[in-house]
Amino acid sequence: MEDIVALCKRRGFIFQSSEIYGGLQGMYDYGPLGVELKNNLKSAWWKSIVYDRDDVEGLDSSILTHPDVLKFSGHTDTFTDPMIDCKSCKARFRADQIDDKCPKCGSQDLTEPRPFNLMFKTSVGPVTDESSYAYLRPETAQQIFINFKNIIDSTSRTLPFGIAQIGKSFRNEITPRNFIFRVREFEQMELEFFVLPGHDDHWHKSWVEMRTKWWIKQGIPKDKLNVIDITGDDLAHYSKATADIMYSFPHGDEELEGIANRTDFDLGSHTKNQGSLNIKANVKENNKSNSRLAVQNENKEWIVPYIIEPSAGVDRGVLAVLNEAFTNEDLGDGKTRIVLKLKKHLSPIKAAVIPLKRNNENLVNKAHEVKSRLQKYQFGRVVVENTGNIGKSYRKHDEVGTPLCLTVDFDSLEKNTITIRDRDTMNQESISLDNIDKYFSDYYSDA
Ligand code: ATP
Repeated sequence: MEDIVALCKRRGFIFQSSEIYGGLQGMYDYGPLGVELKNNLKSAWWKSIVYDRDDVEGLDSSILTHPDVLKFSGHTDTFTDPMIDCKSCKARFRADQIDDKCPKCGSQDLTEPRPFNLMFKTSVGPVTDESSYAYLRPETAQQIFINFKNIIDSTSRTLPFGIAQIGKSFRNEITPRNFIFRVREFEQMELEFFVLPGHDDHWHKSWVEMRTKWWIKQGIPKDKLNVIDITGDDLAHYSKATADIMYSFPHGDEELEGIANRTDFDLGSHTKNQGSLNIKANVKENNKSNSRLAVQNENKEWIVPYIIEPSAGVDRGVLAVLNEAFTNEDLGDGKTRIVLKLKKHLSPIKAAVIPLKRNNENLVNKAHEVKSRLQKYQFGRVVVENTGNIGKSYRKHDEVGTPLCLTVDFDSLEKNTITIRDRDTMNQESISLDNIDKYFSDYYSDA
């Protein structure tokens, strides 16, 4: 983990938030390369969930959430961790993480476990009172449920279909830790997939398989992923079945994504006319909603769809792919190199164009010309690396996972050729500049 954290800072992937003022715990900022990597991971998810399928629509909803949404979802009452306070040093810990003494000062003068709500509350508008508050959403899912009718009405979707959303979520985690694994502000990639009751077991199984395959495509080896079925008290009260995709993070086996069968709990909780809808889940009585969140079957009966929810963390995904890609390679003769063997579709920089000499105008101009030609394919960022030191440039781009380095030398000016170096094999080949567009677009078009 230390190697990854150090590389992230050194090369501009991830920084501690508000670092110059001592840092804000549980928050991180994604730097120039981190934002590219994160966007690439999110795009890969969006592509596989929305574009490659014909049964999913997208959504981008507000972060600030009406208190009633989180009241009827159950978050206001139950989105808590039991906490213990140390009466001596005032430190607070999750009850399941301590024994009978304070991990900070050793005192045994502790409170009984008490619930601590994980949601951030804020006020909306000029007056701050009990009628003007809202929450920062603790998950992206709730806004999908409450937009169900808007999306059905505007798209004429019939079951089964899904709504996908990527966005920020906020949880006041008691003990944020393990770099970007457990943070207080994070991003989720969530799909709510609506199905007929009775078809839910099939879809749950199928989504667990599809999501596992997707992580493998992002560069996580199958043997580092472990799907576990959550049972007994660990199963959320609304869930009929939950499978967690666990990954061997540097600090241990932990959840990367959860796939839950949420039954009719969510639409049942947020719908009006609950009494007439034959809702199976145990929902809070709702007398505020003005929308019927149900669909009609062929006999014109109203049905509240069941929901299968694959919910993945973007930040945990970034940590997992970085961990897999990070390689300290032995080159023989006592030499090593750090290389980030990211899948090429995830690499923050798609190609670095390097002029052999930084002060030679013709070489530098040629490099910029090549960069512009390649940038227009929109596969991602292409840069000109004008350090004048080829070895240093290669080392840098190995460390940040750039798959291709293209060196512009005097042959480029005289013989119209360019040298392409492959990150993983370090092989170099010289090709005609006339073929560079095809080479580049062929290389990335299957990524
Ligand atoms: P955990 O048990 O690790 O706290 P959870 O079961 O509460 O996770 P979910 O509510 O199922 O998590 O959220 C779905 C996904 O969102 C998780 O699989 C994870 O990838 C991500 N996630 C949840 N909490 C955090 C957090 N504090 N920091 C980063 N990612 C998170």
